[in-house]
Amino acid sequence: MTPFDSAQGRLSKTARESFLARARAFGDRRWDGVVLGSRGGIGLDAAFLLDTTGSMSVHLNEVRLRTTEIADEIAREVPRSRLGVVCYKDHGDQGENAHYLTLVQPLTERGDDVRAFLNARQVAPGKGGGGAEAVECALRAANSLAWRASARKAIVLVGDKPPHGAGMDALDGCSRGVDYRDEVEALAKKGVRVYTVLVDSYLETRRVFEWMAGETGGKFLELRSSKDLAPLLISVCLAEAGKDVTKFAARLEAEGLLTDSRKQIFLALAG
Ligand SMILES: [Zn+2]
Repeated sequence: MTPFDSAQGRLSKTARESFLARARAFGDRRWDGVVLGSRGGIGLDAAFLLDTTGSMSVHLNEVRLRTTEIADEIAREVPRSRLGVVCYKDHGDQGENAHYLTLVQPLTERGDDVRAFLNARQVAPGKGGGGAEAVECALRAANSLAWRASARKAIVLVGDKPPHGAGMDALDGCSRGVDYRDEVEALAKKGVRVYTVLVDSYLETRRVFEWMAGETGGKFLELRSSKDLAPLLISVCLAEAGKDVTKFAARLEAEGLLTDSRKQIFLALAG
């Protein structure tokens, strides 16, 4: 039974309670902001890892348009939160030779800095690459961020291609010798959860994104519409910070913005 009343298209009261119960069971924490698990923390450090190759231009533009909204919402709901960004491309002529491999906005409390960074001219989608992108090097850059030991820590990785060295692409390793498995392991040791967001349905990407989320205690999410990206980034940060994501969902619902694809994201986060 779905918690959403399809006849009315609304979240019923009992459904909301059961939704909340599932949300409360998520991870090692209560969802009222009180931390019970050993992983606890005050405040939030969250880094968005964005594939900025050609195939991702619609999604990059959506984040650019809504950076202020995203940063403001997180800052309002989560005291002592900081956001960072790693934009990545690939090795070779379509990536680092002509543009960049990774561009990093360090973790900051200033949403304006994140917006300015993402809207800088050098962050450009450009042309698409081959079967893999430099996800492993983006993860390495994320490992170098100044994560606070005392804070909750999350990465939201948004992309459509796997890292070098993954699965079918195993023969085409990273030209800098970076292994995504080592980077994921290092992040897990620091207590950084990796939330992976699959754009498109490339099987090899799905496999490795699911693995990354599982290894770090994050969640694997699928993005069906670029318009869902801003609410997704917000709700992952709220969830990681131990906030009640159902309140955010209820607000979207009241505004007529809780689409089916967004419901799926909330359920995946709560499940
Ligand atoms: Zn690499």
